[in-house]
Amino acid sequence: MTHVFNFSAGPAVLPREVLVEAAAEMLDWHGSGMSVMEMSHRGPEFMAIMAAAQRDLRELMAVPDNYQILFLQGGGLAENAIVPMNLLGRKPQPAVVDFIHTGSWTGKSIKEAGKYAQVNVAASAKASGFDHVPARADWTLSPDAAYVHICTNETIDGVEYSAAPDIAAQTNGAPLVADVSSHILSRHIDVSQYGVLFAGAQKNIGPAGLTIVIVRDDLLGHALPICPSAFDWKIVADNGSMYNTPPTYAIYIAGLVFQWLKRQGGVAVLEQRNIAKAALLYDYLDSSKLYFNRVEKADRSRMNIPFFLRDETLNDAFLAGAKQRHLLQLKGHKSVGGMRASLYNAMPIEGVQALISWMQEFEAAHV
Ligand SMILES: *Cc1c(COP(=O)(O)O)cnc(C)c1O
Repeated sequence: MTHVFNFSAGPAVLPREVLVEAAAEMLDWHGSGMSVMEMSHRGPEFMAIMAAAQRDLRELMAVPDNYQILFLQGGGLAENAIVPMNLLGRKPQPAVVDFIHTGSWTGKSIKEAGKYAQVNVAASAKASGFDHVPARADWTLSPDAAYVHICTNETIDGVEYSAAPDIAAQTNGAPLVADVSSHILSRHIDVSQYGVLFAGAQKNIGPAGLTIVIVRDDLLGHALPICPSAFDWKIVADNGSMYNTPPTYAIYIAGLVFQWLKRQGGVAVLEQRNIAKAALLYDYLDSSKLYFNRVEKADRSRMNIPFFLRDETLNDAFLAGAKQRHLLQLKGHKSVGGMRASLYNAMPIEGVQALISWMQEFEAAHV
């Protein structure tokens, strides 16, 4: 089997151990004679898989008891509509939603929420090309917003919040909603600072198809009448994420990833590894004459590291050489160009070292 390092932004690399385990259990899960894909979601086997996955995620993220963990479908983008449809009912319509515009993903969220709410962009980094998180002191939040939406790791622009912003002083109890799709479980996240966290699984957890929503109890039961029942968080919570058929196989793989994370020592251990991996690559980028990253240092993402070649005519040769060395999926998102290395939990430090070796070799040949 070819050994590769896969730097895809998502769907992305998974722990090899997990894939080996899933392969071994593919035809016969724990002596049941069935593949997990073939099981009734209401049968005792799958119910056990589901309960363990929810329990392990709660433990890994230290999710407080007054929060529900929901397993849904639709991905991160669907949440851009599902969030307003669930939260706007707390206010008279048309309700206001505050956004902090830090990159491509909040851009999409703003556009979608505009179908349901009056959108206020309380701060934006657009003018400088999304190279930082606007300073908290410069946010102009609405006094009566239904909620405040942020994306704590902008997967395309490579911008990450280092902590939850404190919005209490300037809002009337508006909950903070965060799209954590691309850095969930990569670092400590203080769930109690948020009303809602949501994430598609395919970046740092498992296969596409599973969406995780972590929501505080008091925010359930305020859905707009137009909200589809299968996406009404209260209905989903009351039915233990089994109102409709959940993405069973994706939940199973996510559960194996949660167990793998626990065996590694939990999120704190992974966070230290992620700090070390990102530092290695950023230090090299900052010392290089050929490559550069344009995000302000304090706001640089540990998970998604976009970088550019000063001579863009070399891009294709760089990628072709990388591929020959089994360093895959390094091409940047089409909207920004350049390169991007995603260093999710399952990327070992050896992958980052191999990438830097190739970058050095290529730099030596071209500068
Ligand atoms: C990938 C991603 C999404 C979109 O997820 P889909 O599953 O494609 O809908 C949303 N937000 C962020 C931050 C992402 O990285």
